[in-house]
Amino acid sequence: MDVTENLNNIQQEIRQACENSNRLSEEITLIAVTKYVTIERTEEAIQAGISNLGENRLEGFIEKYSHLKNKAKWHFIGTLQSRKVKDIITQVDMIHSLDRLSLAKEINKRALNKVDCFVQVNVSGEESKHGIMPDEVHSFINELSKYPNVHVVGLMTMAPHIENEQELRKVFRKLASLRDEISTKQYSHAPCNYLSMGMSNDFQIAIEEGATHIRIGTKLVGGVEK
Ligand SMILES: *Cc1c(COP(=O)(O)O)cnc(C)c1O
Repeated sequence: MDVTENLNNIQQEIRQACENSNRLSEEITLIAVTKYVTIERTEEAIQAGISNLGENRLEGFIEKYSHLKNKAKWHFIGTLQSRKVKDIITQVDMIHSLDRLSLAKEINKRALNKVDCFVQVNVSGEESKHGIMPDEVHSFINELSKYPNVHVVGLMTMAPHIENEQELRKVFRKLASLRDEISTKQYSHAPCNYLSMGMSNDFQIAIEEGATHIRIGTKLVGGVEK
C-alpha cells in the first residue's frame, strides 16, 4: 500500500490515542522503521512527509544513510556492537538501545559531541530481549554520569508479542513509572523525559501510556514480505 495512505491512517490513530489520554499529538515523534524495505520505499516515505527513520542493523543503517543523509533524522534502534560504534556515531541522531556500560564507554570515546541515547529496559523479562532489568535502571543511569558524551534522553522498551491489552499496558506503565523516577532526580546527564515504546501492533496503547517516540515498520512502510 501507498505510504501516504498508511501514514494518514496511522496519524488518525495517533490523534485518537492522544484524545483518549488527554495528550497532544505534537508530543509524539513517529519513527518509520525501514529495516524491511528498500531505499526506494524509504524515499517514498520521505516524500510522504516522514522525517525520522529507524534502522536496527548496522548494514541497513549505513546503506540508507549513505543515500539519504540529511533528508531525515536517524535513529539506531537495534543491538549495537561496541566495535561498530565508530561507524555510525557521527551520523546518528538518537540511539535507542543503550544497554550496557561498555557500549556507553565506547560512545563516549568516539562521539564528538553529546549523543542522545535511550536506555533500553527489558521490562517483560523475556530472555530473548535485550536491555537492563528494571531494578538495575537506577544504578545503571547513575554510572552513566562518568561518560559526558552520553546524554540520556529517555527509556526504551520492546513489549512482548502478545494480544492481551492489560499485559501490554502493564509493560508500558512500568517503563513510564521508571522514567518518572529518573526524571524527578534532575540529573544533568540524564534528563530522561522521553519514552520510546510502541510498534505496529501496540502503538495506540503505548501512546495512551505515555510514549513520546513510536517506532513503526510493518504498518507504515511494510514488513517482512518485502
Ligand atoms: C522492527 C522493529 C520495530 C518495528 O516493528 P514493526 O512491528 O514492524 O512496526 C520497532 N522497534 C524495533 C527495535 C524493531 O527492531
